[in-house]
Amino acid sequence: MNVIPRDQHCISRKNISDSALKVMSRLRNKGYQAYLVGGAVRDLLLGGHPKDFDIATDATPEDVHALFRNSRIIGRRFRIVHVRFGREIIEVTTFRGHHDNDAEPSAEHGGNHSRQSASGLLLRDNVYGTLEEDAVRRDLTVNALYYDSGKFEVFDHTHGLEDLKRRSIRIIGDPRVRYTEDPVRMLRVVRFAAKLDFTIDQHTARAIPGCAQLLGEIPAARLFDEFLKLFLAGFAAATLDKLVEYDLLQYLFPDTSACMHHNATALSLIRAAMGNTDQRIAQGKPVTPAFLLAALLWPVASKLALHKQNHGDAPMVAMHSAAQQTIGDAARHISIPRRFSQPMREIWEFQLRLQRRQGRKAAELVDHRRFRAAYDFLLLREQAGEDTGDIGDWWTQFQELPLEQRLAQVASGKGNQGGHRTRTRRPNPGT
Ligand code: ATP
Ligand code: MG
Repeated sequence: MNVIPRDQHCISRKNISDSALKVMSRLRNKGYQAYLVGGAVRDLLLGGHPKDFDIATDATPEDVHALFRNSRIIGRRFRIVHVRFGREIIEVTTFRGHHDNDAEPSAEHGGNHSRQSASGLLLRDNVYGTLEEDAVRRDLTVNALYYDSGKFEVFDHTHGLEDLKRRSIRIIGDPRVRYTEDPVRMLRVVRFAAKLDFTIDQHTARAIPGCAQLLGEIPAARLFDEFLKLFLAGFAAATLDKLVEYDLLQYLFPDTSACMHHNATALSLIRAAMGNTDQRIAQGKPVTPAFLLAALLWPVASKLALHKQNHGDAPMVAMHSAAQQTIGDAARHISIPRRFSQPMREIWEFQLRLQRRQGRKAAELVDHRRFRAAYDFLLLREQAGEDTGDIGDWWTQFQELPLEQRLAQVASGKGNQGGHRTRTRRPNPGT
């Protein structure tokens, strides 16, 4: 174990949340070990500001819970304790130990046990251990650094510090074994490489193609959680590029991934939406997964809608049933909660409604609560090179007008003259 004393690293207690410091000192005072661990130590060493603080300890979840009134034990796959301070939650995990496949739950392990499926997938991981054991159970070397806020020392058991300096993402242990235990680690490798702008170590990278199909075993709900981390952390565009590079997007959105192989605008649109989201996050503006999901599945939904239209369905009917089917198919792989699927549908259906620039309805569209998202979406489609009939500019100007003027404009039949074309085209949703 490599111990780095306080004068040889840049972590300062003043960048650590008071709540986290409080939890650690309380645990230490009661005779337990307690360390800051994971992303927080990594980000502190990189000079950044961690978004949350995780603590590792040799106290069991029950011990921790007993020490903090404001705490509760959560999780089954990993049992952890959440200690709440107002809006801040400090996550406390007990050191995880080794587990072997055929070990029955034993008194030695305090009745806590791990479970693996026949294929080696880790179903449960609740065997407790030492700091060294805990370190090698973590995913990446740069995520396995521990900080002792009492002695100001950093503990490095996996050469994480070296990798941090080299800007390298490396799986701890044999990548194939670690991906087999938990295939989501492949997504994490890609995510951290994109977020930190690190390169992926070659062994870590090379094992991905052989293990990638294991991602098919991951429950849809967990993939959705991971989706949020992949695309709503401010690095969505870079993450998308890496997912495409490692051919992993197909496990999240198989139909989209298939579409992208023969449709160049599909990738451009999705990338534009990701860039837009990253920008909004950087500016502190609110973002919604619904918008990203709408972009990710638009190539699939619009193609299907066109197909249905060619078979005689009216445009809106075609779009409606295409949306239904696209979301239903996608949800077999990745959960899409209703609170997001509903706005997605509305954004898509709006793409048709925006084509009509005459009549009272067009004038009122601007005041609809989904107008803004749908209009932004339209602009992204145009930016991606989709043929929409260039109506974006028209809506850009039109929405600035007060309702009376809008009504006057659509009534006077000038509806279609604000844009570049006077002919209303049949909507051609991204082929
Ligand atoms: P972020 O900045 O995204 O929060 P993080 O490193 O804190 O990054 P978390 O998902 O919060 O990531 O996980 C906390 C820590 O738990 C990680 O740093 C890692 O050590 C460990 N960990 C998380 N997921 C896994 C996994 N699937 N396998 C092994 N270890 C994991
Ligand atoms: Mg974290």
